Amino acid sequence: MYPVINYEKCTGSLACYEVCPADVFEPEEMEGKKKAVAARADDCIECEQCVDACPTKAIELVA
Ligand code: SF4
Repeated sequence: MYPVINYEKCTGSLACYEVCPADVFEPEEMEGKKKAVAARADDCIECEQCVDACPTKAIELVA
């Protein structure tokens, strides 16, 4: 499993970047705003902390 971010919902809080224990996310400039990208998706340990932390429920883990 790895995280997929819905950028329609993402507001760039970077909560996932801050909470992830496996350092999966990196902030990246996107339309003038920094948003997280799953730069190291293969490192995901499926803890779902990013899913819970996201204020707009923009992340889901997919197989
Ligand atoms: S599920 Fe856990 S390890 Fe995987 S990206 Fe989210 S916070 Fe990181």
